Amino acid sequence: GLAQADEVPEPAARVGTPHAGEVVLEAAGERKSFGETEVLKGVDLKVHRGEVVAVIGPSGSGKTTMIRTLNAMETIDSGDVLYRGNPVGYRHTPGGPKRVSDRELAPTREHIGMVFQQFNLFPHKTVLENVTFAPGYLGKGAPAEVRELALAQLRKVGMAAHADKYPHQLSGGQQQRVAIARALAMNPEAILFDEPTSALDPELVEEVLKVMTELAAEGLTMVMVTHEMRFAREVADWVVFMDQGVVVEEGPAAELFGNPQHERTRRFLSRVM
Ligand code: ADP
Repeated sequence: GLAQADEVPEPAARVGTPHAGEVVLEAAGERKSFGETEVLKGVDLKVHRGEVVAVIGPSGSGKTTMIRTLNAMETIDSGDVLYRGNPVGYRHTPGGPKRVSDRELAPTREHIGMVFQQFNLFPHKTVLENVTFAPGYLGKGAPAEVRELALAQLRKVGMAAHADKYPHQLSGGQQQRVAIARALAMNPEAILFDEPTSALDPELVEEVLKVMTELAAEGLTMVMVTHEMRFAREVADWVVFMDQGVVVEEGPAAELFGNPQHERTRRFLSRVM
C-alpha cells in the first residue's frame, strides 16, 4: 500500500567500502509517479563496470520500475538517469526537462540489454531467429557473421541444439536462457535482469542462475532485481535494498546480508531468508 507520511524511510546508508571504478549506469534523485502514486521517491544508484548489483526489497517497493528506467523503458519525472554520463530519458535545459529522443537513445539501448520476467521471446521466430533478429536488423555484421555469433551465444547458454525450435516448444528455463543469449548477441556493456527466475517452476530456476553466475564470473556488468536471496548473496558484489520507493540501505553482499544496518532491512531479510 501507500506509504504514510510518517513512514517515509530514512535516506540510504552506505555501508562498507564504496564500490569503485568506472561508473556505467547512474540514477540520481530519480522520481517517478504513476498517477497519484509516487513509486520512486528520489532513488540514487551507481553501477560500476564489471559489477553485479542485486536489487532486493518487498513487492511494490519500486524495483522493477527503477530497473526499467535504466534503459529508458520507463520514463522518470525528475532526477537523472545516466549511461556513461549521457542522459537516458531526460536532459535538463533552461526551459525545463527535455525528453531524449528515441533516436538519441538508440545507442544507449544497444549497450544495455534487458532480460524480462516473462522472457518476451518473439513467438513466431525460431530460437536462432530470436537471437539474430536485433543484430541482423541493425546491421551488426554480414548475415553469416550474425548467425555465427548467435550460435556462439546459444552454445554459451546451452541452447545451440534447440536453435530451430520455437519458444512454445521450450521450457521456461530454456526460454529464459534464449532470452539471455538474445541480450548477449548485441554485445552489450551491461544487462538488466528483471526478476529473471520468478516466472519459472522451481526446478528450472537453477539452470538460469547458473548461466547468470557464469556471466558474472566473466565480468559482465549486471543489474538484477531478484527474489533469490541465496543467489544474490553468492553472486552479487553490491546489494541494494529498496523499500517504499527509496534505497534504504546498500552495500557489499556479505555486509548487507550479514550485518544489515537498518531495521527495515533486518525485518525484510528475516522474512525472506
Ligand atoms: P516491485 O518491482 O518492487 O514489486 P514495482 O516497480 O513493480 O515494484 O511497482 C511499484 C509500484 O508501482 C506498485 O505499487 C505498482 O502497483 C505500481 N506500478 C508499477 N507499474 C505501474 C504502471 N504501469 N501503472 C500504474 N502503477 C504501476
